[in-house]
Amino acid sequence: MKLCLKPTIIPFKLEGQVVLRFNGQYAKIPDPHGAIWELATALNGSVSVEALITQVADRFPAVSQDDIRAVVQDLIRYRLVESPDAFEITSLSDHDRMRFSRNIDFFGSMSAVTENKFMSQEKLRAAKVCVLGCGGLGTHILFDLVALGVHQLTILDFDTIELSNLNRQILYKETDIGMSKVVTARRRLLEFNSHLDITTHERRLESTGDVANVVRGHDIVICVADKPANYMADWLNEACVEQGVPFISGGLDVRRSVFYSVVPGISGCGACWLTSARNKSSLVNSISNMAKQHDITYQHPGPALVTLVAVTAGMMVSETVKILTGCQPPQLTNKLKEFTFDDLDVGIAEVWQLNPTCTVCGHLARSQQSTVQAETV
Ligand SMILES: [Zn+2]
Repeated sequence: MKLCLKPTIIPFKLEGQVVLRFNGQYAKIPDPHGAIWELATALNGSVSVEALITQVADRFPAVSQDDIRAVVQDLIRYRLVESPDAFEITSLSDHDRMRFSRNIDFFGSMSAVTENKFMSQEKLRAAKVCVLGCGGLGTHILFDLVALGVHQLTILDFDTIELSNLNRQILYKETDIGMSKVVTARRRLLEFNSHLDITTHERRLESTGDVANVVRGHDIVICVADKPANYMADWLNEACVEQGVPFISGGLDVRRSVFYSVVPGISGCGACWLTSARNKSSLVNSISNMAKQHDITYQHPGPALVTLVAVTAGMMVSETVKILTGCQPPQLTNKLKEFTFDDLDVGIAEVWQLNPTCTVCGHLARSQQSTVQAETV
């Protein structure tokens, strides 16, 4: 096996030790004779690691091959080296390998030595992503998804572009005013990457069935549609749980933004959250009942500052990357996170759990439990 120090590692030669700096952390390796520095600088994938160990041990008789081999094993264990042997094969084109090379090294910083560092980018390339809403959050999210390398998109909005959208909706410009949002967003995204496959729906969503018809067959749904305010979250949740499609939802609330994700059958769903919130607070129970019964919402469009939009879009797209690639576990499940403009903090606003008696997702939890029990038997 050939090994390279990952491109995200910076080696430093200090008095009696080698320090490898990565992701704000430092790995310190004792090196009284200079053999480890020789090893670190020779880890470039040109010769096999066994040949390299022999070569370094020959040059430093005070250091045994076993000592050097132990250091190599630590470098492997802490994911500080990669092997060119593990990523010779990829379905990515030369264009994509170059275009997304910085992503690939980002994902490579997490991968084990036997893992193909192109794999996460390949998963993004193959993913089918549905974005409901092409307003402030929607346009930022779409731009980020395409920059990431997502190629198959379904986008939905019923609105046309207005002057007051241009404080934050980054895919549109002054000459687009009066035009369809989905048509304009599609055109602008194709200017950015001409290889995209984008399906547009220019329509309102009016039921769980409507949402189910749009999200069916996608790998993930990102919902930033806020109309109708009192029903969208329920329709989204019911449709995505029914279809088994993970989703991420988010929105602005004056000087804070909120966002969460649901992986059906694995995490709690929106209905689990609502039940938990109602049980914790009679005020939440009364307000949510009254809002739904009388369809009470803002009388005027809410305020929307682009900085909250940008941070929130980044959070939601980061969660998308985690769910689609599996590079790390999701971080927005079973909780509502909030970004607050006042102190620029991101914190947890609410937490909940998968409720096995949930009327929307409880059957998934129960069937998973029975599978586990069956396997145990
Ligand atoms: Zn549920």
